[in-house]
Amino acid sequence: MADVLTDIWDKILRYLQKHHSQFWRSWLEQVEPISLENGLLRIGVPERSWQQYLKQFCNAGLREAAQRVTGHLVSLEYVLTDGDDLTVSDYEEDTLHNSNLFYFNPDYTFDNFVVGPCNRLSHAACVAVTESPGNTYNPLFIHGSVGLGKTHLMQATCQAILKQTSPAMIVYMSCETFVNDFIRAVEEGNLYDFRHKYRFADLLVIDDIQFLSERERSQEEFFHTFNSLYQGRKQIILSADCPPSQIPRLEDRLVSRFNQGLVTRIDKPDYEMRMAILYKKASLRGIDPPEEVVSLIARKIDSNTRELEGALTKIHGMAMLDDGLITLKLARQSLGEEPTPPHRQITISQIIEAVTDHFDVRLSDLQGKRRSRSIAFPRQICMFLARDLTSHSLEEIGGHFGGRDHTTVLHAYRNIDKLCDNDESIRSMVNSLVTGLTQK
Ligand code: ADP
Ligand code: MG
Repeated sequence: MADVLTDIWDKILRYLQKHHSQFWRSWLEQVEPISLENGLLRIGVPERSWQQYLKQFCNAGLREAAQRVTGHLVSLEYVLTDGDDLTVSDYEEDTLHNSNLFYFNPDYTFDNFVVGPCNRLSHAACVAVTESPGNTYNPLFIHGSVGLGKTHLMQATCQAILKQTSPAMIVYMSCETFVNDFIRAVEEGNLYDFRHKYRFADLLVIDDIQFLSERERSQEEFFHTFNSLYQGRKQIILSADCPPSQIPRLEDRLVSRFNQGLVTRIDKPDYEMRMAILYKKASLRGIDPPEEVVSLIARKIDSNTRELEGALTKIHGMAMLDDGLITLKLARQSLGEEPTPPHRQITISQIIEAVTDHFDVRLSDLQGKRRSRSIAFPRQICMFLARDLTSHSLEEIGGHFGGRDHTTVLHAYRNIDKLCDNDESIRSMVNSLVTGLTQK
């Protein structure tokens, strides 16, 4: 029975890997099935963040996979197999209200973070905070433009602190959530609970604090939250897309509070680091792309780490649709460096040959002056195809058909285009000519 279950689970995983490759992570191999009874497949997961990842991102894919593999409707349940994490859930239930439950991304750990010249100080500061929250850099303020790893670093810090022997009470959220929470509390006359929640944290982590810009009442509230935690020597970590003094319309007293600890900047990664990040992301996804592919992506995409990852996801996805092999050719195609269909080499003579064949007219007719429909129509089709399938200019195309000028070619093109839109039989005739030409 156990073997049957393992076999089913393995097939489900392979299906997910192939059909939902963007969600595939190599740690999924470590997740084990517990039982399959009455249409319920129970899965054991050792990490809370994995459990959440499965629920949030993989559930639909896994259900679909389970149905394919077993031929039945199956629902899934993810059971935490490690009891050590309980403090977190106690904390969530007691301290946070359900609407505020936050789960960390299992990708965002220190192990998965590549350290280099552009982020060394920010990383070191986060590690130091992990070792002694509230005592080293307080507040820690990390800034840098979008996609450079601020959220990753902050979540890594939280996850590392949660793994410690006496985990702290962490309040982690985007500034937008803070602001919305505050507005709701004001509306509901519930400021007491709101304040209680924030001011009991051991660690307050607010992402994208620039969102406070111009929101005066939220700034006021945050100022008090900040002070109360700071005075209690609780750790505060903030991130923004610019340094404190450049956040538009942020009160001076907040700017000076934010500057009072350590302010660090994350810069764009250099080429070597981009390579290292790509290798790291590839190994997380259980893929092993050739070096030439990694260096192609690292050369092409140089501004934003999120896009780097996006390119890898796309190439991986394309490979999984086929034989799973990640090749340079595939990478070039997915980065738009190589046209996917190889049909640019078609010549006007080939077009003329196809059209004269189909309509049973002669080349001299197409090049002559006659305007009867039986000649003019095939001539227009030629011009249409020449414009779509070759890189000749309108003038050049006109030149091939009895020295007609570019407006005639354009007119022909628009005419056929319109006919294709309106007339099914013309559309299919043109399509079959195109297919014949491109597949030669
Ligand atoms: P930000 O919050 O600064 O906009 P994120 O933390 O969301 O950026 O990072 C965007 C993506 O880039 C994430 O997938 C993150 O894991 C990745 N990333 C950024 N920097 C690094 C790094 N140094 N090592 C590994 N991954 C990184
Ligand atoms: Mg972010």
